[in-house]
Amino acid sequence: MSSMKPKSTIVIFGATGDLAKRKLFPSIYKLYQKQKISEEFAVVGVARRPHTHESFRNYVKETIEEATKQELIDETFISHFYYHPFDVTNTDSYQQLKSLLEQLEEQYNIPGNRIFYLAMAPEFFGTISANLKAEGLTATNGWTRLVIEKPFGHNLQTAQKLNEEIRQAFSEKQIFRIDHYLGKEMVQNIEVIRFANAIFEPLWNNRFIANIQITSSETLGVEDRGRYYDHSGALRDMVQNHMLQMVALLAMEPPIKLTTDDIRSEKVKVLRALRPISHDEVDQYFVRGQYGRGFIRGKEVVGYREENNVDPNSNTETFVAGKLMIDNFRWAGVPFYIRTGKRMTEKSTKIVVQFKDVPMNLYYPTGETIHPNLLVIHIQPDEGITLHLNAKKSGESMKTTPIKLDYCNNCIDGINTPEAYEKLLYDCMRGDATNFTHWDEVASSWSFVDPISEVWENTKAVDFPNYEAGSMGPKAADQLLEKDGFHWWPISSTM
Ligand code: NAP
Repeated sequence: MSSMKPKSTIVIFGATGDLAKRKLFPSIYKLYQKQKISEEFAVVGVARRPHTHESFRNYVKETIEEATKQELIDETFISHFYYHPFDVTNTDSYQQLKSLLEQLEEQYNIPGNRIFYLAMAPEFFGTISANLKAEGLTATNGWTRLVIEKPFGHNLQTAQKLNEEIRQAFSEKQIFRIDHYLGKEMVQNIEVIRFANAIFEPLWNNRFIANIQITSSETLGVEDRGRYYDHSGALRDMVQNHMLQMVALLAMEPPIKLTTDDIRSEKVKVLRALRPISHDEVDQYFVRGQYGRGFIRGKEVVGYREENNVDPNSNTETFVAGKLMIDNFRWAGVPFYIRTGKRMTEKSTKIVVQFKDVPMNLYYPTGETIHPNLLVIHIQPDEGITLHLNAKKSGESMKTTPIKLDYCNNCIDGINTPEAYEKLLYDCMRGDATNFTHWDEVASSWSFVDPISEVWENTKAVDFPNYEAGSMGPKAADQLLEKDGFHWWPISSTM
């Protein structure tokens, strides 16, 4: 890994699409603004739409102005952008792309380092990789890397097939699989909170932790992603990747060193230790939901089945709650509860670690309970940590009251945490794959998720829609915890 400013060309396949517009261009711009990349870079956009270099630059400029809400006066940045229109299934055009890259590498003094960013539907990943290799675009004097977006397969089998296709052209070390949750500041902070504080790690096990809850809720519905989402659902779209990645970071053993391989191998061990759920156990451990009509911040919204490009009898889940058991020494007996859904009360991603009760309640011998200690990690939209403790209620003899120690990352002036994509792009340019998912992680998480989706696909959810838009999901999600004697902690920003 080099500490010098990385020099590379970035080829964005799907440069006229939504992801490039909303995330990639603004992220490259911010890296440039912060002088994390040198003047020695070029971006080449690929898509079918007929743009010239000039009209593409205007388009990129507009997207950046939209994202930063500022006029882009200095045109130097934009001058690094080029456009090469072609259909990626057409093999002839790759030679022209190759010549363009060689010309730019000379012009900008870039030592043959190339990032191929596939911001396109996964059905093209195999074709593009194969053509890049066959036409010689991966043979350079520098390094070449492939960045790919989710979804990585539809189940283990299709993920394997996709992986084999891209592995024909790129080695595992060259493949950067994006899970944008891993680029989030507070997700990266999980590791630091755990391994840089002497007070947590000794308690981080089944002797002191009662359960861990991870919620990732959205208020949005499917918006214009109906066609994709109706074939995917919340389990594939959120659980297989983002939710399981957070579980792995919370549950992993301390790595020997903070190297990519050491961290990834500890995460994989967690995913392998997940108790497998067989077809007939799915109902015991998992709950699915689909939103009906309801109100989001006072505004009436339609149910999932009435959304554009969604089957009016759709069996697709827009909500998942689950109980995960990690069968190893550290976690035996501690449930990890996860839930995620669309059209919920609030947009929030939060982790609540609930500690076990003190061994004896000295303060309320007749019944009242003491609030358990909680460590809350706020991931988005707030970023911070809250520790819930008990203190003496002032005045009144010996009663307790819950108090909070709060640390808020984005409340502090000057801390303007970078967007996940900005960090991940920078990591990729520097060759740091720690916050990208290794194939072994992808494979283990599909193995866990597959039996659940098989059951859900083959049995119609007769109670769908089973939660109102604007609620916290179906009743069954609450019952999942109640039967273990727990409940979901609220996700409101005051937690
Ligand atoms: P999108 O808006 O539909 O963009 C697709 C891009 O691919 C367009 O630029 C399109 O441009 C180009 N394209 C399609 N067929 C082509 C072909 N045969 N040859 C060359 N170019 C072609 O999709 P997106 O939302 O940006 O998503 C891209 C990928 O990221 C998908 O895998 C998606 O699942 C994933 N993803 C997206 C987001 C997000 O926030 N958008 C988040 C997570 C993951 P032309 O029509 O001009 O050819």
